[in-house]
Amino acid sequence: MTAFVAHLDADCFYVSAERVRHPDLIDKAVGVLGNNGACVIAKSYEMKARGVKTGTPIWDAKALCPEGVYVKRDFYWYEVLSRKMLGIVGTFSPKVEYYSIDEFFFRAERLHPRQNLHQTATAIRDHILEAAGLPVTIGVARTRTLAKLFSDTGKPFGAVAVLERDHERELLATLPVTEISGIAGRRAARLAPYGIRSCLDLADADGRLVNRLLTKTGYEIWLELNGTPVTPIRPERPPHKALGRGGSLMGNVDQPVVLWAWAVRHVERLIEELNYHNVRTTALAVEVGWKTGGSTCGVVSIPTPTDRFDDLLDAARVALRRAFVPYATATHLHVLATELRRGKGFQLSLFDTPDPKKDAAAQAKAAVNARHGRFKVRSGVTLYLPAVYADPANNFDICDVRGKICF
Ligand SMILES: [Mg+2]
Repeated sequence: MTAFVAHLDADCFYVSAERVRHPDLIDKAVGVLGNNGACVIAKSYEMKARGVKTGTPIWDAKALCPEGVYVKRDFYWYEVLSRKMLGIVGTFSPKVEYYSIDEFFFRAERLHPRQNLHQTATAIRDHILEAAGLPVTIGVARTRTLAKLFSDTGKPFGAVAVLERDHERELLATLPVTEISGIAGRRAARLAPYGIRSCLDLADADGRLVNRLLTKTGYEIWLELNGTPVTPIRPERPPHKALGRGGSLMGNVDQPVVLWAWAVRHVERLIEELNYHNVRTTALAVEVGWKTGGSTCGVVSIPTPTDRFDDLLDAARVALRRAFVPYATATHLHVLATELRRGKGFQLSLFDTPDPKKDAAAQAKAAVNARHGRFKVRSGVTLYLPAVYADPANNFDICDVRGKICF
């Protein structure tokens, strides 16, 4: 018997999440704003109909949709609802993958012997709305790629089950190849000379040609389009190869002390991640994005695997110096631990002496913050970022949501 895959995607998730706690927002045009309140990062269907897109600056959005309600994002709340949704799906399926904050893949199994998979998808969708207050769309098909494509056609609040080849072909013919995630501009341009424009064109193309044009990744998509599953459902996230924290500097930064304050903030966030995943690193990279475009990166190797603030601070100082461009204006900064070692069996060399005092200080800092709130104890250097720490919305970030497979 064929095993079917379901793809669940919450409809305008951040907006729906705001509506769960503010029901007066239901039926209104709602825009959720990013970090510094400058851009719309999610919009309701009402706002979308007015021409507001993801990434539209707030001033343009207000011109297009003056009666819209604009709220600042709150990833802490979105994660609460995301986990609730994940829990609900887990009661319907033995195998669930936490793909992103609002998208899951799971094994689709009939809830009842007399029910078909379309009825099952509908029942799960309706239950999530009732139990969590979130509208979602579910697509069921033979592979992940097909399930994701077909759920997109069912938005909003859809339940689509495509179980037969003829039905698959009929829908694939209506979808441009760019609907497949991973096939955008350049890849699509490579296909166009061969007359491959729709997903069905791609499915019907010669597999060897696809392999040549789009490499192995494209070939795997081709297999999945033809009903051969390549990627299984992954209930556990594979171990990280690297961990990083960072992002926008919420404006232009041209003072070195402020840039350093951001680097230290992200080192403190990175340490939380290293501790959570029980890993240490032997290399640290600092990458800075500049206003003129482009970025620079400094990398430092660390002799002994570490997750300790003082070690990582020393490394970050050197790495930032290597990435630094004098008199330039920075807009982004990331701190990355790139050589991870698992928690057990850290090998101390002959020259490395353990430092119980510094380990104790690190533990005390973590304990106070766990008890009294994140960043309650933090480096004095970060006092250069008063606005960042004064706004509780910055205590939580989308990349702090753990266990999901994709950003
Ligand atoms: Mg979504």
